[in-house]
Amino acid sequence: MTPKVFVIDKEGRPCLPTHPARARKLLLKGKARVVKVVPFTIQLERVIENPLGSFTVGIDDGAKEVGIAVVSEKTKEVVFRGTIELRQDVSRKIKQRAEYRRSRRGRKLRYRKARFLNRKHLQPQPSIRQRKESILRVVKDLKKVLNITDAVIEQGQFDVSSLQAGRQLVGIEFQQSFYEGRNFRAKVLWRDNYTCQHCSAKEELNAHHIRRRIDCGTNTPKNGITLCKKCHDSLHAGEWELELKPKDFKYPMHLMQGKWYIFNLLSSLGLSVQRCVGWMTAYWRNSIKIEKSHPNDAIAMVTKNYMPNIASLEYTILLRRAKVWEDNPTKQSQEKMGFRHYDLVKCKHRKRGWVIGSVRSLKAKVMTLRAKEDSNFPVSYRKSRILQRFNRIIYSY
Ligand SMILES: [Zn+2]
Ligand SMILES: [Zn+2]
Repeated sequence: MTPKVFVIDKEGRPCLPTHPARARKLLLKGKARVVKVVPFTIQLERVIENPLGSFTVGIDDGAKEVGIAVVSEKTKEVVFRGTIELRQDVSRKIKQRAEYRRSRRGRKLRYRKARFLNRKHLQPQPSIRQRKESILRVVKDLKKVLNITDAVIEQGQFDVSSLQAGRQLVGIEFQQSFYEGRNFRAKVLWRDNYTCQHCSAKEELNAHHIRRRIDCGTNTPKNGITLCKKCHDSLHAGEWELELKPKDFKYPMHLMQGKWYIFNLLSSLGLSVQRCVGWMTAYWRNSIKIEKSHPNDAIAMVTKNYMPNIASLEYTILLRRAKVWEDNPTKQSQEKMGFRHYDLVKCKHRKRGWVIGSVRSLKAKVMTLRAKEDSNFPVSYRKSRILQRFNRIIYSY
């Protein structure tokens, strides 16, 4: 399907996204104007009394990449999908800052009392907080153009809390035996580091019940061990005997902390947030037969049992700060010839039209631009014009 165009009304309230042809007509008749090029957004010249539509955002939370998809459950359409690329340098930078500070206090501020272990609020560590807040920034930005009312997030690979509570995680109820079985498998595999405990294979893994279910064996990790299909089959055929003891199951709480942090952040936006766990996402993704990727996981999380129409490009989302020019001698200039870092620029001689780039060069007449899959290339200031001012979030496709 053609990617939809986002529409906002005169007062900036989100309306239903529309077909590009309709948007073009509105633009030609002067009934709307372009406010954003990527993702393409138009603003109507009139006020819409009751802006319609409600959307659900699915978030596949990861440490490096986060899949995000906005779905209309009414029309069964994906109107936005993409991957947020997260920063990986936060913990290093925090450490570096702490070192500077320690050394400064040692050199210049020795008269002050020592201060340590004095955190007032327990909150996730900065690297985790940054990740979750990046997600929030993107959701907030999308909320400007789409009326997002619901969210679905993944809280870990399996349900750590009580099994009974877990079955209500997502609104639709799984059969209890199915739920417990899947959760058992996910826990055991996670604890055993996704490796066969007999032969160290990493594929086709099963969670074996040490004491059989039929003999009152439980679905607790203590009663489980990871085996690959080969070892598992031969064990059941009686070719060898299980002697190893399963390891202890300990789920680190700091992982959970971050999951609740994003849950609370999204709730504070006024969204009603549903939770699911990793094996559910995989189950839904397989049942609607789409390949594994971060945006697809986010889609499956929302739609669960139907395949929606995809009416969106696949975006890569980068979060950046406004930056002072790196090699500028004065270190103060924010712009040069009207161009700033990460502005979206259209240049004349380039076929591909527009590029995303950083304006970094200090040469008199050219600046360096960077297209998405292209290497850097220079263009002249005179032959370029700004399509879109950098606004801290870069969408590209
Ligand atoms: Zn094996
Ligand atoms: Zn078995």
